[in-house]
Amino acid sequence: NRYISIKHPINGAPEESDFEIKSESLSPLPADSMKKKKEVIVKNLYVSIDPYQLNRMKSHSPSQSAINFASPVTIGQTIDAYGVGRVIASGNPAFEKGDLVAGLLCWGEYTVVKEGGLLNKLDPMGFPLSYHVGVLAFSGLTAYAGFFEVCKPKKGEKVFVSAASGSVGSLVGQYAKLFGCYVVGSAGTQQKVDLLKGKLGFDDAFNYKEETDLKAALKRYFPEGIDIYFDNVGGEMQEAAVANMNTFGRVAVCGVISEYTKKNKPSAPDMLDIVYKRITFQGFLAADYMKIYNNFISKTVEYLRDGKIQALEDILYGLETIPSAFLGLFLGGNVGKKMVKIAED
Ligand code: NDP
Repeated sequence: NRYISIKHPINGAPEESDFEIKSESLSPLPADSMKKKKEVIVKNLYVSIDPYQLNRMKSHSPSQSAINFASPVTIGQTIDAYGVGRVIASGNPAFEKGDLVAGLLCWGEYTVVKEGGLLNKLDPMGFPLSYHVGVLAFSGLTAYAGFFEVCKPKKGEKVFVSAASGSVGSLVGQYAKLFGCYVVGSAGTQQKVDLLKGKLGFDDAFNYKEETDLKAALKRYFPEGIDIYFDNVGGEMQEAAVANMNTFGRVAVCGVISEYTKKNKPSAPDMLDIVYKRITFQGFLAADYMKIYNNFISKTVEYLRDGKIQALEDILYGLETIPSAFLGLFLGGNVGKKMVKIAED
């Protein structure tokens, strides 16, 4: 069983009816043709639920073919997604039955990974398998590369992170605190705010849904201005952050989730402000930073082992929970890395 896309999201936001389960028999396994095609069959254990999937599903999906897992999803196509699984059959000499693997799987029970597909053997290093979908996978790399490589922080700088209780944001804030910055996060509920200030050690946090004037709110939290804005949401928050930025501030545009479900043109920052304050804006993709992957893993493993960072996870159980898990991302339903556990190992 696996989820396919049956219609493009209309009105911007996704709906459960955009997906349908398709069933197909995998047995008997075609051993000869698998060998010829160097295919690997993986039993999916955990699959990642990510906001970027929505942009792939839209009828006017932007061309993002620079990275294969962000290419548009066509109607009837199985939705591929990062995940962790166990090899149950292999026609590829690089993998054996029983290998634990991580790579581009799908929102389904099994994945047939073709030759050249993103798949690597996985050493769990003593961590739960779920960590290899979140903190030790792309969410972690996005936070690490985005903060250190794109934001180019200096100790003591003032950092603002939006969607701060989410998968990427919660890690950005923790890396920034460990590095020696002053960190404030925004999130959509009081519980999330309490979590940021308590368990995650942010200097401060606020519920953006309770603020009528975001510019004024940020002025309150950053009376001396913002040096770095790690932007996960775009739209009005980006506009308000730029209005509060210091000269030579940096904005790392990681994602603009508030705009993914909007039909109308979002509000934009004041360009003249950007000119006069000499602000650097940089969009980035974690996939561009594989060169620092080893450094990211060794540092993050060390921080996890020393209890210096917390991996927030939000796990649903069972294939059928995938659509609601996905819809929940756009409603603030998750705390930390959203994923679905498909099966026991
Ligand atoms: P999260 O775990 O942060 O989940 C999404 C969160 O976004 C929700 O929990 C919600 O939290 C918040 N949100 C949803 N809608 C809105 C809205 N309209 N306005 C403000 N906040 C909203 O997801 P990820 O950590 O996986 O992704 C965070 C961002 O990073 C996304 O924009 C994503 O596209 C991007 N990304 C970019 C990558 C890259 O390589 N550049 C890689 C991975 C992710 P709340 O309750 O606070 O509203």
